[in-house]
Amino acid sequence: MEKFRDIENKLLKRERLSFDDALRMYYEMPVQKLGVLANNIKQNLHGKRVFFNRNIHVETSNICVNKCKFCSFYRDSVCKDSWEYSIPEIIEKIQQNYKSGITEVHIVGSLHPTRGIDFFTELFKQIKIKWSNLHIKAFTAVEIEHIAMLSGLSISNCIDELKSVGLDSVAGGGAEIFDENIRKQICPEKTASSDWLNIHRKLHNKNITSNCTMLYGHIESYENRVDHMNRLRTLQDETGGFNCFIPLKYKYANNKLGLKKEVSLSEDLKNYAIARLFLDNIKHLKAYWPMMGKESSLLALNFGANDMDGTIYDSTKIYSMAGAQDTKPTISKTEMEQLIINEGFIPIERDSLFNPL
Ligand code: SF4
Repeated sequence: MEKFRDIENKLLKRERLSFDDALRMYYEMPVQKLGVLANNIKQNLHGKRVFFNRNIHVETSNICVNKCKFCSFYRDSVCKDSWEYSIPEIIEKIQQNYKSGITEVHIVGSLHPTRGIDFFTELFKQIKIKWSNLHIKAFTAVEIEHIAMLSGLSISNCIDELKSVGLDSVAGGGAEIFDENIRKQICPEKTASSDWLNIHRKLHNKNITSNCTMLYGHIESYENRVDHMNRLRTLQDETGGFNCFIPLKYKYANNKLGLKKEVSLSEDLKNYAIARLFLDNIKHLKAYWPMMGKESSLLALNFGANDMDGTIYDSTKIYSMAGAQDTKPTISKTEMEQLIINEGFIPIERDSLFNPL
């Protein structure tokens, strides 16, 4: 299409897209065209390879001192469906799944009112004593800030302590949308955007890589999405420490934001494609299937995504409590490989840092 020739030329020459280019793509470019462009870029980076890993997700507790309006996961401690797993219970969960060949334990949760650094250093020590080769990917920047505050530590010292007992990398949640006005409306108590970015900067400077996310499909505008990705791209230019970008779709069930619908699949795919085209310095783009469902995630592989997260091997509840179809999102390695093959790609099992195994 003649009207997008400038953008196509930039992509052909591997030139960076501007803020305005990304906005034009959101507002004007047909989703099929976005898919073709995003696929070309992905093909150059990864060929037909689609990554996944074997992992277990453990959500240590859903008792939270915050009350983010978009969140369907948090509970007060008195609620019947609240939980707080003890260290032995968490170890038991990992034990049950270790035989299936997991290489990663992904640990995230809420901002628990009393669990500080002592709880988590003890947990990590016990995990590493039993399974020294298991990669611990844990916490969002928001959780790190909270643990540091509860424990009277600086962010820097908190990271050092966690690293010394086995923290290998950090999850990408809590970024939501960086625009301060939107953030005030959907999660007023949450870590400020600049602090979220600073915590990841500190992690990267200490050689701990991390993922990054964007919560989309609520009250944000396209301008807010591009601004969000632009802030991530700028930090990635500085540190190179983001492994992967994960678009997270707002799900409307059981939360206080009060929206009555979700954005369409076409909007999801558009978002994937633009992320692939705009975030030219983040190599991996994840289709997080417990959130999107398997079929939509496989479709996203044709719109720039190159990673399917993992086998999960436990009942992550963050998205099922928000209305996602899969209430027990678990998939075997064989099934994952077959799904990827059926979609015309080559499945590659990876470690947590995206090295093929
Ligand atoms: S999004 Fe995280 S911090 Fe916010 S209420 Fe939910 S669990 Fe708590």
